[in-house]
Amino acid sequence: MATPPVSVERLTEAFGPSLNYVPPGGWQGRGEPEKLVKTHCCFCGQQCGIQLKVLDNKVIGFEPWEEFPFNRGKLCPKGVKRYLQGSHPDRLLGPLKRVEGRGFEPIGWEEAFSTTVREIQRVQEKFGKDAVAVLSGVSLTNEKSYLMGKFARVGLQTRELDYNGRLCMVSAGTGNKKAFGIDRAANSWADIPLAEVILCVGTNVAECSPITTDYIWRARDRGAKLIMVDPRVTPLARTCDLHLPVRPGTDSALLTGLLRVLIEGGYVDEGFVAEHTSGWEEARASALAQTLEEASRISGVRVEDIEAAGRMWGEAKTSFLLHARGIEHHTKGVDNVLGCINLVLATGRLGKPGCGYGTITGQGNGQGGREHGHKCDQLPGNRDIENPEHRAWICKVWGIEDSELPRKGQTAQEIMNAIHAGEIKALVSICFNPLVSLPDSDFTREALSKLEHYTAIDFFLSETAHHADIVLAGSLHEEEEGTSTSAEGRVIRIRKAVDPPGDAKADTEIILELARRLGRGRYFDHFKSSEDIFDELRMASKGGTADYYGITYQRIEEEFGVFWPCPEIGHPGTPRLFEDLKFSTPDGKAHFHATPYRPSAEEPDEEYPVILTTGRVVSQYLSGTQTRRIGGLVDLCPDPYVEIHPQLAETHGIEDGKWMKVESRRGSVVLRAKVVTTIRPDTVFIPYHWAGRRSANLLTNRALDPLSKIPEFKKSVVRVSPAEEPAEG
Ligand code: SF4
Repeated sequence: MATPPVSVERLTEAFGPSLNYVPPGGWQGRGEPEKLVKTHCCFCGQQCGIQLKVLDNKVIGFEPWEEFPFNRGKLCPKGVKRYLQGSHPDRLLGPLKRVEGRGFEPIGWEEAFSTTVREIQRVQEKFGKDAVAVLSGVSLTNEKSYLMGKFARVGLQTRELDYNGRLCMVSAGTGNKKAFGIDRAANSWADIPLAEVILCVGTNVAECSPITTDYIWRARDRGAKLIMVDPRVTPLARTCDLHLPVRPGTDSALLTGLLRVLIEGGYVDEGFVAEHTSGWEEARASALAQTLEEASRISGVRVEDIEAAGRMWGEAKTSFLLHARGIEHHTKGVDNVLGCINLVLATGRLGKPGCGYGTITGQGNGQGGREHGHKCDQLPGNRDIENPEHRAWICKVWGIEDSELPRKGQTAQEIMNAIHAGEIKALVSICFNPLVSLPDSDFTREALSKLEHYTAIDFFLSETAHHADIVLAGSLHEEEEGTSTSAEGRVIRIRKAVDPPGDAKADTEIILELARRLGRGRYFDHFKSSEDIFDELRMASKGGTADYYGITYQRIEEEFGVFWPCPEIGHPGTPRLFEDLKFSTPDGKAHFHATPYRPSAEEPDEEYPVILTTGRVVSQYLSGTQTRRIGGLVDLCPDPYVEIHPQLAETHGIEDGKWMKVESRRGSVVLRAKVVTTIRPDTVFIPYHWAGRRSANLLTNRALDPLSKIPEFKKSVVRVSPAEEPAEG
């Protein structure tokens, strides 16, 4: 039974999160750096360029990297403080094993590897190969993502592999593939400042992708209009021309209403639609089947505002649409994405300067991670694991027979469901903290407790790793060479600045050693460096939609990154997709889709009358494993809270700054109220980065989008009430 070996309080005392404020040596004693290493920030998909200061094999600070074109030296608070992780007192300095009643104790690598391999083999012999699952993370480089995919499918021979991008980008990826046949932002961000109108749907740009704000401001300086669709007046929305305060879960009704305005206003680019798209008649009929009054009634946005937004978009000659998790974290996440794409296609604004569409990636390597590695239904190059030709290519690259390559497995939440049901017995995870990041945390906790064996690879002891049997101390971003792919589709170099501390090992070394000990070394032993792995990845991706074949480490260094697809050596890369108006679908056309509104998995009722939505704050990153340990970031937002409108607060006798309880069908939290006028009166908001009894995901719903299998984080129903201060913080 993989319950924590001692109380969580004792584990927290021993392994954190504790707060680090100062670089190694302290502010006064840290000395002058020996070298500056040009690399990238690991804390979101913008992947800003940064230079790390290194002294005595330690990262002691940073300098802006002014020449890197994406951020031109700018960084957000997370980027400024990221370097404090390397020598953090909580860093795991060697492998650990659980000892019941005593906690986690250091062991040697020999014992750590042999126990892991022995347990995996025992479980697979008894229950079959697929009884072992792998949950991977997209803070990993492309090389590590590729390696994890190959390790699971060739090393462990299990089909049960998925990744935490399942909680981030999969609705966007699924929608993009359905509409365009390719899963990437259609443009580099350089097109944003050229747009006359920018429509941001479900994205808190200023907090979640801060440097993108700079691109929008540059457009604003040239006179661009900004429309924000969000249930909250987020920081950027406070500066916009038009804010549409959509009711959570009703985006498709609003987007269909906007399409209707485009049709009725004569804004449709009929020539583009006729020549370069399919599915228009169905989408058009669906838009005309819903009146603007219905769109308004469902979405809570006034008819005149829907009309104004449609006109603003329709009258512009150039435009850029950005969306993110606000519309994607739904059981209709893919529909919402397709509803956005319909607006772009109807006006034919793609493939030209200032005309574009993009999904804002949240996770560091959310883009590259899913293209090449650890997504349960994909093989490298964005290939389909069930497509015989795609399988044949990868089998050839990997030197295995088709019969040896597992089929499509289950998604991250489904894997957790299968662990809970006792169908999956053992788990290997890397850089994934599902106890904080999956919905319905108490369900996840129960599931983890049922594992017969769990090995976690990580550099801090995450809350999920409290349940592990063996912890393998791995490496940080700056402790291995590699590449990553930014939200723009730009492949960039992650440079090694220092070695892993103490007896910790590079993740790559850990994975290769496990593969070797599982008797599968012949498929992995040729990897002597990260560049060797990248070279195999390039070949594996060749001919796929995410084709990296023409990208080399040298080119990335010389060109400040290369945009995929880049199918040949000498190919310039592709910052702007679809310039030839050829799409990557079988018929070469972009596809419209009808996206009629349907209700969410849960709707408000008498028992739970309030909508809960969740999201991020600027100073924290995802499950907080890294950022909840950095003092300067925690100080910016020390605790989770509940944003609540004064009307709703007054109805329930809740006061600003006082404790309040939020309860759903799955659990409850007690947090302080933040009474604000910048949220809809029917909705409350909680940031999700915290663990334990303060976790927003105690409340959220495990319902999944039928296509992308993303959980419905952005809409649950709850009831609220005043509360006493909780016993535990
Ligand atoms: S915007 Fe993202 S990549 Fe850039 S510094 Fe902030 S967290 Fe890092």
